[in-house]
Amino acid sequence: MDTRMEEIVNAIEHNKLTADDSFRFHCTQCGKCCINREDILLTPLDLFRIANELKLSLKEFIDQYCELYIGSDSHFPIIRLKPSGSIKRCPLLKNHRCSVHKAKPAMCAIFPIGRVIAFPEDETSSEAPVIEYFYMNPGCGDNTKTQTVCEWFDSFGIPLDDNFFIELATFQMNFIALIRNAERFLDETAMRQVWSPVFGILYLCYDLEKEFLPQFRENAKNLLYGLQMILSHNTK
Ligand code: SF4
Ligand code: SF4
Repeated sequence: MDTRMEEIVNAIEHNKLTADDSFRFHCTQCGKCCINREDILLTPLDLFRIANELKLSLKEFIDQYCELYIGSDSHFPIIRLKPSGSIKRCPLLKNHRCSVHKAKPAMCAIFPIGRVIAFPEDETSSEAPVIEYFYMNPGCGDNTKTQTVCEWFDSFGIPLDDNFFIELATFQMNFIALIRNAERFLDETAMRQVWSPVFGILYLCYDLEKEFLPQFRENAKNLLYGLQMILSHNTK
């Protein structure tokens, strides 16, 4: 486990916050958190918002600024911002400022707060998953402001009941179970033919002028259905 991942796991275990808990932090906009970064992962919603902000198509934005890979542990298709130069600067940092401030990725916007989904332990339970928050010691800023988690999210326009965050996590869990199963039955060539449309449907098949969430739901449903079909053809 790398150092950053250890910090996150430690924060999840020891620094949990509720939406009404407050924390001290004020960002001085020094830009240091935008260098030495190889871990700015983008969700389909981040891509959608940033491409709209930069007035690029999704493909143009991905080609110019991103890298695609398959998570070695998660087996999930991942898109991250492609770091540039020896200091691994985020490609969206321009003149020491975030060039997509209003649409910055959720993980950048909510820092130093992190969030995870807690699914019910009993898989058959009808309880809905809940979002848990945690505080990561930022080691930056000037601590001159105090705010609640709720106020912090509000200031970036991110809802506490973030349906997309919950639906993405649920989709990831179901997708990973199916893809791991598919990898048992399909050889490398067949899997390569699976990954290309998976990336396309999950990250590219959106009309930037339409509402995001219904499009994501449709794409997620189609991907799970497609994988189930592939599995049923190959396990008969
Ligand atoms: S979050 Fe911290 S490191 Fe990043 S710009 Fe703000 S003060 Fe600087
Ligand atoms: S997207 Fe913006 S805030 Fe996030 S690392 Fe890049 S420049 Fe910094």
